[in-house]
Amino acid sequence: MIRKSIRLTALSLATAAVLSAFAVQSSRAQAPAGGVVALTGARVIDGTGRAPLEQATIVINNGRIQAVGASVQIPAGATRVDMAGKTIMPGMINAHGHLTYNKDLGDPVREQLIRRLRTYAEYGVTTIVNLGSSAADESEGIKLRDEQSRGMLDRARIYTGGLNAVGKTPEEARKSVDRLADLKVDVIKFHIDGNPNDMTTETWSAIIDEAKKKGLRTYVHVFYLKDAQAALDKGVDVIAHAVRDQDVSQQFINDMKAKNVGYIPTITRDLSVFVYETRPAFFDDPFFRRGIGLYRMEVDVLSDPKRQETVRTNKNAQSIKTAIEQGMKNLKTLSDAGVTIAMGTDTGAAGPNNYGRWQGYFEHVELEYMVKAGMTPMKTIVAATGDAARVTKLDKDLGTIQAGKQADLLVLNANPLTDIKITHQIHSVWISGHRLAAPETR
Ligand SMILES: [Zn+2]
Repeated sequence: MIRKSIRLTALSLATAAVLSAFAVQSSRAQAPAGGVVALTGARVIDGTGRAPLEQATIVINNGRIQAVGASVQIPAGATRVDMAGKTIMPGMINAHGHLTYNKDLGDPVREQLIRRLRTYAEYGVTTIVNLGSSAADESEGIKLRDEQSRGMLDRARIYTGGLNAVGKTPEEARKSVDRLADLKVDVIKFHIDGNPNDMTTETWSAIIDEAKKKGLRTYVHVFYLKDAQAALDKGVDVIAHAVRDQDVSQQFINDMKAKNVGYIPTITRDLSVFVYETRPAFFDDPFFRRGIGLYRMEVDVLSDPKRQETVRTNKNAQSIKTAIEQGMKNLKTLSDAGVTIAMGTDTGAAGPNNYGRWQGYFEHVELEYMVKAGMTPMKTIVAATGDAARVTKLDKDLGTIQAGKQADLLVLNANPLTDIKITHQIHSVWISGHRLAAPETR
């Protein structure tokens, strides 16, 4: 017993030596996050669904949460930050976003992707799962993913699927997955749109099968219940949009639960299809205007009365008004039944047809619609934090305010459990224990 503890001490001394050598090397990048920080006196919604802690302290050491609670001891020498009156929740995780390059903005790919990730972060969305790159940004997205484990982060974390998996035959589909696996993507995404251009069942099943062989989880785009059920039957891991054609069946509910498959409703994706038939009031919302540096070009396009007219006369756009209601009804059913819901928005999807999916702002609108659908603010926050982390398998490091997790935090000036729109009242955003600079005045 004694010998074992001596060995452990020797080992941890060696580890400490290595760590401190590393700390010296990277001290400049790490400087603001270094040392021990204690956030004191806050209400803490930890992302697990448990009742909030009052008058709590969060101790952050080297970017990670060391302790949290109402009676934790603050280490000597810690930098104390008074958070009395604030509510601290985990940084949000968008389980279905996109990080795609729009060349019409004129800036280089890398610069633009970073700008997009920074905008997410400024809105308190500290992690996104990119469910579909474009050819122009696929490799840069992977590079940004690789870089985030080094040095200080002043942008959202990204996990990425690269290009969607696709093929005309099962063999092609498998090759497409193999290519993505070689690129070291985090997830595999594919589509079943419910139209004649879809891959055959045999072909998309090959995607799921090949992904499993490569140790990758699959996310499927669906609209119809029959396609969601078929994907579930073939072993898909996550349903990446709401079922929007009819009420979900008892079979679907049972299978979602038995197979522990996550469900991402993306309500604002549907909102974006019809809401620009007129100029939406939120274009003047100061909280929306925080992101205008990134949003401006799309706002201009969507403010054009001629474009608005095309939305008003587009049959598909108008039919989504019914689909969104159906999707919200199913969300309530599935949430009540205990299916794991992860917040996702489809923000940032590529191409002018997808304009108006605001990275950062729409994640807050999504929360609002989840509450409108009948989820409580607490369940909604859990879907955007702890459960989003579980669905995306990032829960070892992210999603909750618990010892050992990354200190990715969203500090609010009031309590969002009383009104979900209070998530707009951002005091500060922290990533790995480092406080993000306030958005530049634009
Ligand atoms: Zn998408």
